[in-house]
Amino acid sequence: MMISLDGKSRFKSIPPTLDSTHPKGKDKWEKLEKSKSGKGVGSAYGSEAVRKEVRKYHGYKCIYCEGIPVGVSRPRIDHFRPKDGVKDCETDNFKGYFWLGYEWSNLVQSCDSCNTHKSNQFPLDEGSPRIFWDEKSPFPGPEMRSILSAWLKQEKRLLLNPEIDKVEPHFRFTKDGQIFSHTKRGKTTIQVLKLDRGDLIWRRKRKIDEYYQKLIRILFGFESLLSNMNKESQEFAQFIFWNDLSMFFEELLEAQSPEHEFSRLGFYMFHEFEDFFLQREQDGFTIEKDLKDHAELVRNFYRYLLSLT
Ligand SMILES: [Zn+2]
Repeated sequence: MMISLDGKSRFKSIPPTLDSTHPKGKDKWEKLEKSKSGKGVGSAYGSEAVRKEVRKYHGYKCIYCEGIPVGVSRPRIDHFRPKDGVKDCETDNFKGYFWLGYEWSNLVQSCDSCNTHKSNQFPLDEGSPRIFWDEKSPFPGPEMRSILSAWLKQEKRLLLNPEIDKVEPHFRFTKDGQIFSHTKRGKTTIQVLKLDRGDLIWRRKRKIDEYYQKLIRILFGFESLLSNMNKESQEFAQFIFWNDLSMFFEELLEAQSPEHEFSRLGFYMFHEFEDFFLQREQDGFTIEKDLKDHAELVRNFYRYLLSLT
């Protein structure tokens, strides 16, 4: 986690097989209503057609950890509000949000690990009501079932969802790939999804390392170019240096766009440039302390920042 995503556009493109007002989806919803339990939720929510539609918006990215599943594992379709009961639920006989079983806005793309860690957790803040379908009342229609409905919004949920929440203020990253939060919702979200698990920390750190190595190559390249040139040609070296750096900064900037893996970390790499790269100590070497042209690099970074405005 997490960078905010545009859920509103995705919610509008309901696949017909999940649409209760469409002939292709109607039967499923009727069956679900009659079942009055999670047992009525068939597997259509995870069909290839649904996955394909989700991919149009999120590629192969897990919306929770922002990782792209590697190897043979492929993203799963997760029920944001769990369909089969809720862990530590304060409401007696709560059967889960099964009545959201095919609700398009309640389905998100998640990796195996986030899906497994989350399982049936859906904690609410103290004193929050738990919303459920009272079987004596009519089955909730599409407007009530929408994740944006006033009915569901009565729940003070602690688990953040990047498709509907502004998630950025809740998460911070360190240059070692750790994630942390200062807010109750952020902390709960990290805990529920285990966003501080070892493999994620390692993958995030690897990403930072990759950029650091690129930067180091540019800097050493510049140094060796300067030492081999006469005065007139040094201007040319400066020009190449500026070009290489601009490309590097552009890539760094690009790393924070939502379609990239760990894009929120991308934001930190760019905005915490000094902390993430200049003050980083690796093998006893720190750019800020040990590199002759460090000042030039900082100048160029701010020159680049200015060029964006
Ligand atoms: Zn994940």
